[in-house]
Amino acid sequence: MSVLKEINTIDALIDRVFSYNPDANFDLLRRAYSFSSEAHQRQKRVEGSPFIEHPLAVAAILTDMRLDATTIAAGLLHDTVEDTDATVADINGLFGKDVAFLVEAITKLAKMEFRTSEEAHAENFRKMFLAMAKDIRVILIKFADRLHNMRTLEYLPEVKRHKIARETQEIYAPLANRLGIGRLKTEFEDLSFKTLMPEIYNELAYKVAKRREEQEGYLNEVTQLIEDKLTEASIPGKVIGRVKHYYGIYQKMQRQGIAFEQVYDILALRIITDTQSNCYAILGLIHSLWTPVPGRFKDHVGAPKSNLYQSLHTTVVGPKGERIEFQIRTEEMDRIAKEGIAAHWKYKEHKPIKERDDKYFSWLRDIIQAQKDMPDAKEFLETVKGNLFPDVVYVFTPKGDVMELPYDATPVDFAYSIHTQIGHQCTGAKVNGKIVPIRYNLKNGDSVEIITTPGHHPSKDWLKFVQTARAKNRIKQWIKAEEREKGFVIGKELLERELRKHDLSPALIKSKEILDAAKPFKLFTHEDLLLAVGYGKLSAHQIIHGLLPEPVKAEKQAVKKEIKKAPEDKGIKIKGIDDIMFHRSKCCYPLPGEKVKGFVTRGRGVSIHTADCPNLEAMAVDKDRLVDVEWVPGEESTYTVKISVFTLDKPGVLADLSTIISAANINIRHIESSATNSKQASLNFILEVKDKNQLNEIFKKIPLVSGVIDVKRVKTA
Ligand code: MN
Repeated sequence: MSVLKEINTIDALIDRVFSYNPDANFDLLRRAYSFSSEAHQRQKRVEGSPFIEHPLAVAAILTDMRLDATTIAAGLLHDTVEDTDATVADINGLFGKDVAFLVEAITKLAKMEFRTSEEAHAENFRKMFLAMAKDIRVILIKFADRLHNMRTLEYLPEVKRHKIARETQEIYAPLANRLGIGRLKTEFEDLSFKTLMPEIYNELAYKVAKRREEQEGYLNEVTQLIEDKLTEASIPGKVIGRVKHYYGIYQKMQRQGIAFEQVYDILALRIITDTQSNCYAILGLIHSLWTPVPGRFKDHVGAPKSNLYQSLHTTVVGPKGERIEFQIRTEEMDRIAKEGIAAHWKYKEHKPIKERDDKYFSWLRDIIQAQKDMPDAKEFLETVKGNLFPDVVYVFTPKGDVMELPYDATPVDFAYSIHTQIGHQCTGAKVNGKIVPIRYNLKNGDSVEIITTPGHHPSKDWLKFVQTARAKNRIKQWIKAEEREKGFVIGKELLERELRKHDLSPALIKSKEILDAAKPFKLFTHEDLLLAVGYGKLSAHQIIHGLLPEPVKAEKQAVKKEIKKAPEDKGIKIKGIDDIMFHRSKCCYPLPGEKVKGFVTRGRGVSIHTADCPNLEAMAVDKDRLVDVEWVPGEESTYTVKISVFTLDKPGVLADLSTIISAANINIRHIESSATNSKQASLNFILEVKDKNQLNEIFKKIPLVSGVIDVKRVKTA
């Protein structure tokens, strides 16, 4: 844990507390310091310095965790009852019951005997958990005490050094990790490592320093590039170089049986930003700059670790072909990653763990409950171990990378931890060369190769056997998305079909009117409406019915009659069919200038349709009777055509439309108007136009009229 500035006086300590908690009880701190220095006056540290340096250093470490004055006072006093004539009653009288409680708890913990037997370990654990159960701050003070002792271990004889280092490695580091206090865990591990294996430690430290020097320029380049891109994209973020801690490197080398040179993630970059969504934005940015290494992306933001750790992890192939590891997180996530449960405590007054946090620390309650139910220390230890080191299996990818998965994980879990798509398409696996079913439980050391089938997709059954949260989430997401997708498509299709059936614009599907019609069914968004129809909760007819009052049907028939009355077309010339009787079909009313097709009818000559007439498709079954035709310039004439204009039902729209149509020299033969509901009107025009161009011109102008929603040519099927 980094001390920002050496704290070797009470004034320096108070300055530090003031920097994060100006309202702290500084008088309490001064009095605790005086009492402690007096009590320890005749005591010396092993190296010969005044003993007060130790409680002061412990208190300083507690300020790194930004803890409250009560905890810091207890840190200053933590050895007084243990090592001097002071009593808990003295502390209680002078500093109150909270400080006295903490000091007493620490004193009890200090009496733990460090024996190597498992029973002794179990008893130590048990006491620590008992203390934690009462007040988590006890363990934080114990951590600070242990950290300072580890930092000053060199003055002790080797046997004692090793004993303390081993206990730190076996109990304190995993406990700090479980409580999410990342920086304590890494310092505990590195200090123990240094004590227990000094040669290996020194060699590693040397190699890391060398690699750092070699790669510094390169990482600076990458950092600069990312920072420029972030500025460009207006995403706040700072890029920090990070060195994997020595014990972490050592563990990786051991676990994977590789040399230092093969550990590529020794240097990594961490990007700190402001919001969760920007974490993902930055991830996208990095993946767009460089190719991500498959299976290396981990989303601990969406699915935080059980100790509250949150961060996005990814490894990419960098600009020089080197792998670079990134961690992306917000400032808050960064703080939690370093301080864990201490971050939740902060310097606030003594409060029980908040409910939200309680959920994450439920394992702690389980342990505490377990110790009450289990008088046997050994049995208790098993429970604790199970919770501190949740059972995992290590399996290998075909490339020899190690993957850590929970006990009973299956090939599907493995597939999803590589890539979501690989998970979705997983149909089996080869384990150690043999084909196994997807429900197979992976064993330590298994070499796993996933068999995928393109187009395959997950099923609900998978949820019954997958173990990882990642696989569960991805499968659920897929099922949900799939159901929605289908619902939307079907809902849209049914509604559009129903709209067309009533000569209404399919565009109405996005209108406010359709929402009004949906309201009685307690559907308030377009999405909900589409899904309700798609899922079959109600029919499209029920909705569209609300849009369609009775008069519309009558009007439709009136328009049809009108068209029938139109005079026979004159002046049509069609290339290639001079001598054959032909007529413009009454479904689409093709115009000169349009692409047309001819259909040889039985006994009524050739009917001419627009190339996109909805009826042509049905006629195409009789291929032989379709003939290629085209317009030729003929004598001047006009042709009837039918259009529908959907408008807001407001005064003046019809007048405006009539004006611009007339101004375009188009004769209006007939107008039918009706309100489809209180807010919208449907206006059907029968126009006489010269050709397609003239119609196109007016189609450009109509949408500009205020109140017009949509205009379309009517081609009836
Ligand atoms: Mn101590």
